[in-house]
Amino acid sequence: MIGPVQNVKVGQIFTSRRALHDENVHRGLMRGIAPQGSSIVLSGGYIDDIDEGELIIYTGEGGRDPETGRQRTDQTLTGGNAALAKNYVEGNPVRVNRGGNLDSKFAPDSGYRYDGLYMIDSYWSKKGRDGFAIWRYRLVRLEGQPPLGQVEDEGDQEDIGVSSFGTVTPARSNVTTSRVIRNSAVGNKVKQIYDYKCQICGISLETPAGPYAECCHIRPLGKPHNGPDTLDNVLCLCPNHHVLFDSHAIHLSDEFYVVETGEEIRIEREHNLNAEHIQYHRNLVSVKT
Ligand SMILES: [Zn+2]
Repeated sequence: MIGPVQNVKVGQIFTSRRALHDENVHRGLMRGIAPQGSSIVLSGGYIDDIDEGELIIYTGEGGRDPETGRQRTDQTLTGGNAALAKNYVEGNPVRVNRGGNLDSKFAPDSGYRYDGLYMIDSYWSKKGRDGFAIWRYRLVRLEGQPPLGQVEDEGDQEDIGVSSFGTVTPARSNVTTSRVIRNSAVGNKVKQIYDYKCQICGISLETPAGPYAECCHIRPLGKPHNGPDTLDNVLCLCPNHHVLFDSHAIHLSDEFYVVETGEEIRIEREHNLNAEHIQYHRNLVSVKT
């Protein structure tokens, strides 16, 4: 079950994993990632996790020595890790819970706290501190929720009217979101250069409002990637190729062809791509060229 849970408030404390499970906030008693990746628990199990409250860099599951807690094999994009990747691609929110054992100033004093919905805005793989590949997910908290640690008011619950049968239907259970399309001067520029045609397939979508293309950042914006919003770090792509690029289905070689398909991409003279950004994107999942 994706999204909010009926009768559970953001900020609510649960005494145990069993209680989280029984209330359907996080199904399962051991794993950090619930079935379908609908929720996660941060409890300090992974040394590579980063918790900045509204922003989390979360480590996927697997490959860990249960005795020492250290990584001993590479993590794979299967199970809960694949489920979180799917939620990224489909734009599904993830319920986040923090445990009292978490080494973070955002951890509750004890038990587990449901901290509301987060969106996965990128995912990648890298060598963790123990030298094995781990999958990582950047989660950003959705706006419009009470500040972390504060319990949602009754008023925030938006009881959306009582039906003629006297039952209350919480509309909150219908929260869905999709991938965010950002607009920027750089994005407009790159679309102009290519006349809204995808640099990979040449397609421009014709809409009644005019041609449509998307600006794709090669090295992702924001922590921890900190890619720049500059012309040498963007591509003009159709939505299909944008999704394939961001989800690591395709990558570019240093010679500007698509590694996975061999297609050459179109590059205009005034568009100088920075090879370091292209390498950075490949290295997010260690693609060999
Ligand atoms: Zn395309």
